[in-house]
Amino acid sequence: MSDTMAENAELTMTDQVYSDDPLADRETDHYRKEYVRTFVDKWDELIDWAGRAESEGQFFIDILRARGKETVLDVACGTGFHSVRLTEAGFDVTASDGAASMVAKAFENGRSRGLILKTAQADWRWLNRDINGKYDAIVCLGNSFTHLHKESERRRALAEFYAALKHDGLLILDQRNYDAMLDRGYTTKHKYYYCGDQVTAEPDHVDEGLCRMRYSFPDGSEYTLNMCPIRKNYMRRLLSEAGFERVRTYGDFQETYAEDDPDFFIHVAEKS
Ligand code: SAM
Repeated sequence: MSDTMAENAELTMTDQVYSDDPLADRETDHYRKEYVRTFVDKWDELIDWAGRAESEGQFFIDILRARGKETVLDVACGTGFHSVRLTEAGFDVTASDGAASMVAKAFENGRSRGLILKTAQADWRWLNRDINGKYDAIVCLGNSFTHLHKESERRRALAEFYAALKHDGLLILDQRNYDAMLDRGYTTKHKYYYCGDQVTAEPDHVDEGLCRMRYSFPDGSEYTLNMCPIRKNYMRRLLSEAGFERVRTYGDFQETYAEDDPDFFIHVAEKS
């Protein structure tokens, strides 16, 4: 199948594809079989953007503005939440994602808000093949980076991000607090509720190499994502080793946090 045919097939896929043993599906390329159109549509139907914007506040906007950043590449744009928000806040945003279904949805979501988003389909491992120019900042949000299952791919993606940034560029990358999940013998008792109680996300299986999250929707439908649980300090080390001079880590949008409390960590890495 040609690349274009494969992309078109992806755009119409409605069922997620896993092997007979889904816990063995630990390949990075697998994300394109997970973000099927039905999952993407349902997600956006139920996650109220206004609620999400309220819970996150001005955090990313403030960080970018405080450092005078203007051009932003959202490398995991998903359905476009941050690309739209940052565009509305006055940044010059390019929205990219490795999944064709996501890029299409982000464009649609932008258009329904009166914006024409600049979009591109780009896998992080080959980012600079598909994205031109250098940016003031790159954002990789929503626990996206943990779709990479191998260390060599993480290093490669970070090298691509680094190269796509100007000399004083900034990378903002977030992740779930997997340390808490791995260290506390995580049970499925802890549920994350997204913006009210419409969608729940809970870990279905956690081991050192896999965190399989299950998303349950009010109509009874369920979807899963196989992610790689990366630890906070390991991620900080990878960022430093990729060449970023300063890495500051926030917990749930706060500068101070109790180590196991936050659900999310946000790393802000500066090139110089
Ligand atoms: N940032 C969005 C948000 O917060 O709503 C989307 C988050 S979603 C959990 C993860 C996104 O990362 C998906 O849109 C997926 O297609 C993208 N992604 C995963 N692996 C990727 C890769 N190797 N290259 C490019 N995009 C990738």
